[in-house]
Amino acid sequence: MRKILLFFLLFTLIASAKAQTNLALPVVKSSIKGINVYGKPIDNQTRCQHWHSELDIIAIKFKCCDKYYPCYSCHEETADHEPKVWPKSEFDSKAILCGVCGTELSITDYQSSNNTCPKCKAAFNPGCSNHYHLYFETDKKKIE
Ligand SMILES: [Zn+2]
Ligand SMILES: [Zn+2]
Ligand SMILES: [Zn+2]
Repeated sequence: MRKILLFFLLFTLIASAKAQTNLALPVVKSSIKGINVYGKPIDNQTRCQHWHSELDIIAIKFKCCDKYYPCYSCHEETADHEPKVWPKSEFDSKAILCGVCGTELSITDYQSSNNTCPKCKAAFNPGCSNHYHLYFETDKKKIE
């Protein structure tokens, strides 16, 4: 009887380990309402291997390749070119994707959104503002 129990335990362990491996499989791209997100996304709300908290639900379109990536590292690790930031003159371009409702925001809309999606009211990560300079042209001498 004990042997059967042991066998059952072992089987459950193997089965759950296998399920975890399946989850960790890298995704090459995900799609939100028909808009492709590249890099290393892990779900369909733009969370990625680098940023995956409750609040990490936006993707940024890169000026260089016109493709959405969940974050800078995703672009760095999977794109074959140097990233380009958006110049201020193009801040009215739609370059931010809300991973919850699939709405595309302009950079101006996003920066004045108070970290809340204007369409679905989902909360964005306020910490993203520390990384604006990786995506958008900023005033250089700004030290925070
Ligand atoms: Zn690019
Ligand atoms: Zn990433
Ligand atoms: Zn939204």
